[in-house]
Amino acid sequence: MGKPLVAVFSGAGMSTDSGIPDYRGPQGLWRREPDAEKLVTYEYYMGDPEIRRRSWRMRAEIGALGARPNAAHLAVAELERSGVPVRVLTQNVDGLHQLAGMPERKVFELHGSARAVVCTACSARSGMDEALARLTAGDPDPACRACGGILKPATVMFGQRLDPEVLARAVAVAKGCQVFLAVGSTLQVQPAASLAGMAAEAGARLIIVNAEETPYDPLAEEIIREPIGTAVPKLLSRIAEGG
Ligand code: ZN
Repeated sequence: MGKPLVAVFSGAGMSTDSGIPDYRGPQGLWRREPDAEKLVTYEYYMGDPEIRRRSWRMRAEIGALGARPNAAHLAVAELERSGVPVRVLTQNVDGLHQLAGMPERKVFELHGSARAVVCTACSARSGMDEALARLTAGDPDPACRACGGILKPATVMFGQRLDPEVLARAVAVAKGCQVFLAVGSTLQVQPAASLAGMAAEAGARLIIVNAEETPYDPLAEEIIREPIGTAVPKLLSRIAEGG
């Protein structure tokens, strides 16, 4: 028998140990700045240069954190290297799974990536580093070098659709996996969150690692409330050993 396909679904909680703030959490930016949600809402971003400038400043702030993969990211990549088939479905845009060593093609970023920047006019992609360097150099709202169009992070903002191709591939993983491990997500943002339900319905073992309750807890074979940084490495070494 082949090794079971393990789907790791990660949310904001996966990256809090890396110093990436959970913008929806109690201490999050959304609470600090009442209209902060506008910074990541497509309509406001496109329509208001001041929102764009604030949005870029927020990106620069996050970039300056220099977040590194934590023990949980490293454990996921380690499991993959050990020969267990692993796919990562993530709500995070920080790229820390790949930085930890997960191959790019095995990571499905449902909410896009903050490591890249895309032109809203000509779709040209470039690196976030380059955009932030232009910011530092004094351009508070850098425009596309190719066409002058509005640049935005390659993240899925509120008011934007998820990439249908990424979503379709994530659904296929959820339906085809034997273990679905949901880490650090309240499993409340749709349609991404319903992947847990799809996996359970298709017969996968659903394991949830999250501090708070989730709507999918009743379907879970195992619920772990322990901190992610210790729980995930322990759990994954058990899975690697076939447990
Ligand atoms: Zn362009």
